Amino acid sequence: MCEKPVFFGDMNSLRDYIIDAAARKRALGHFNISTVDALWGVFRAARELRAPVIIGVSEGERSFIGVRQVAALVRSIREEYDYPIFLNADHSYSLEKVEEAAHAGFDAVIFDGAKLSFDENVVTTKRCVELVRRVNPDIIVEGEIGFIGESSKLLDAIPAGAEVNAEHLTKPEELARFVRETGVDLVAPAVGNLHGMLRGGGNPRLDIERIALLREAAGIPLVLHGGSGIADEDVIAAVHAGIAIVHFNTELRLAYRQALALSLAENPDEIAPYKFLRPAAQALERVVSEKLRLFWA
Ligand SMILES: [Zn+2]
Repeated sequence: MCEKPVFFGDMNSLRDYIIDAAARKRALGHFNISTVDALWGVFRAARELRAPVIIGVSEGERSFIGVRQVAALVRSIREEYDYPIFLNADHSYSLEKVEEAAHAGFDAVIFDGAKLSFDENVVTTKRCVELVRRVNPDIIVEGEIGFIGESSKLLDAIPAGAEVNAEHLTKPEELARFVRETGVDLVAPAVGNLHGMLRGGGNPRLDIERIALLREAAGIPLVLHGGSGIADEDVIAAVHAGIAIVHFNTELRLAYRQALALSLAENPDEIAPYKFLRPAAQALERVVSEKLRLFWA
């Protein structure tokens, strides 16, 4: 088990933890939540392993919890437990949404222009970097390049337009240009990964060699989206090749829902939400723990 962290020494910001993880060929886990019990589930799993952790909320997830409210919740856990837990505005598709998150006190934001043309993506991401740095000079900004689908759900087929074939994966020279021209802190390329998880498993394999080349070309840490459904060995190899943050959502949602369905079926007379919801958050916690052990413990 890891000797670190908990806020120690001069490491305070998400940036510090990303740099530290990358230097040690480790990664930070990024886990999405929709509810407070899920937040506690992620926190408990991370704390058990003494792993710094990032909470992610998509536009839909954060409008459900409340943008300022989720920021207050994460901050309150960080302060009460003196623990490196951070908050990211996952996939934002407009500058307004990114700016709103920055004003609410998020540690990081993602502007997702992967569906735009390369040039439009560069221009809009650059604008996003300028806007949010005006709100918070220390905020982490991530850009996306290469469309990999949009929904964290069970898939019947690879989403239309998803760039998972070798000829469509992100190329080192385009990534280098994207990073140079936008000024992002982190970048998420298409390396065979997908949002969502194919029913019955079998998401495409990752192009590990490409990840190493992209990391070198980018000069900044890379982020892997769509961690759900990727073979464990590929996640581990991707982290060694230069991935500093791995996103998981679909597998958490699935575990939560299945445990909740069972809980309701087995306890038809239980009407206290804090009782019938408990197994759902516990199931999510187990998934988070399994994933973190791949690249932290
Ligand atoms: Zn994602």
